[in-house]
Amino acid sequence: MSDIRDDVVEGFEETYGYSPSGIWSAPGRVNLIGEHTDYNLGFVLPFAINRRTIVALGLRDDGILRVASAFADEVAEVEIADLSPERLQGWPAYPLGVAWALAQYGADLAGVPGVDLFIESTVPVGAGLSSSAAIESAVAVALNDVWQLGFDRATLAKVGQLAENKAVGVPTGIMDQSASLLGRGDHAVFLDCRSLESSLVPLGFEEAGLQVLIIDTGVSHSHATGGYAARRASCELGARTLGVPSLRDLTVDDLPRAQQILDDETFRRVRHIITENQRVLDTVIALRETGPHAIGDLLDASHISMRDDFEISIPELDLAVETAQLNGAIGARMTGGGFGGAAIALVPTEGISRIQVAIDGAFAEHGFGQPTMFTVVPSDGAARD
Ligand code: ADP
Ligand code: MG
Repeated sequence: MSDIRDDVVEGFEETYGYSPSGIWSAPGRVNLIGEHTDYNLGFVLPFAINRRTIVALGLRDDGILRVASAFADEVAEVEIADLSPERLQGWPAYPLGVAWALAQYGADLAGVPGVDLFIESTVPVGAGLSSSAAIESAVAVALNDVWQLGFDRATLAKVGQLAENKAVGVPTGIMDQSASLLGRGDHAVFLDCRSLESSLVPLGFEEAGLQVLIIDTGVSHSHATGGYAARRASCELGARTLGVPSLRDLTVDDLPRAQQILDDETFRRVRHIITENQRVLDTVIALRETGPHAIGDLLDASHISMRDDFEISIPELDLAVETAQLNGAIGARMTGGGFGGAAIALVPTEGISRIQVAIDGAFAEHGFGQPTMFTVVPSDGAARD
C-alpha cells in the first residue's frame, strides 16, 4: 500500500499546490453470502478486503469543499453552505453527497472549515467490490474526524447509504458501507439489516489453507438502471401481497403459501430472499462451529438461487462459478448486485493457479472477454492512516 499512499500525497500536492494534513482510507468489500437481502431487512455476511480507497485531506480557511480523484480530470467545488443533493452530479456526488448526508444526520456544518480532498483507490470500479462504499466511507471517516462530529461507525454507514441513495440516486442498502466501516482482519461482518446490529464472525481462511479468489468478468453493471431497481420492486410487491412489512418477516415455512398467492416470477424472487436469509444464518453457524470448509455447499446453493430464482447472474458469472467448482473450489458464487461484476471462489491455496488457468481457458473457449483474477484477504475497516 505504500505506493498508493505516495501517489495520493503527490496527486493532492499537484492538484492543490500544498501538502495534505492527513490520510484516511476505507476498503472495498466482498459479500461472502447474503445477496439482495439487505434492502429486504434480512441478513448479510460481507468482509472488508485488502483493496482500499485513500483520501488525502487538507484544511482550508474558508467554507469551500473541493474534491479531486485520480479517477477523473475535473476538480469539483462547492460551498459547504450550498450543499444539496439535487445539484450533485457524476462521481463527485459520492464524496460531496457524504458531506451533505452528515448534515442530514445532525452535523452542524455552519462553522466547519473548508476542506480539499484528493482520492486514489485500488478498488476496481464497477466490479461488485463496492468502490462506491469505499469512497463514501473513506470520506465519511475523514470528515467526521477533521470536523470533530463524533459520529459512530454505524451512523457513518447510514450517512454513506443516504449519500448514495439521495445524492447519487442509487437505491442500495446498508451492507457495503457497514462492511467498509466495521470490517476486521480475518473476520466477516454479520449484519442484521433490520436492527442494524452487527457482530464479527471469524473466517479462519488462512489457517484452513483457503483463499478467496475474485473472478472479475469485466462486464460492468449499473445499479442505477434496470435490473437492480426491478428486483427491489418485485420484493416490495411480494411483501405487500403476503401482508408483511418486509420479506425478512418470512421463513421457509411460508414458501408454500407464497407459491399459492404470488405469480411465478414474484414467487421465485421471494424464494431467493427467504432461502438466502437462511443460508446466511447457516453460514454463520458453520463458520463458528465447524470452520470455513463447511460453507462450500451454502455458497454453491446461493449461486443457483441467484441464477434461477432471482435471475441476476449472467453467462460469464455462471461459467466462472461452474469452472471453479469443477476444478477444486470448496464453493463459488457470484457476488454483488449482479448483471455483471465478479464471482468469488473459496479455494485451497495450492489449487489457485489450476482454477485460474481453467477459467481463462473456459472464457476463451466461449468467446468471452478475458476475466481479471486476484485473491483478497479479509481486512480491517476504515481508518486514519
Ligand atoms: P461498485 O461499487 O461496484 O464499484 P458502483 O457503480 O456502485 O460500482 O460505484 C462506482 C462509482 O463510484 C464510479 O463510477 C464513481 O462514480 C464512484 N467512484 C468509485 N471509486 C472512485 C474513485 N476512486 N474516485 C472517484 N469516484 C469513484
Ligand atoms: Mg457500489
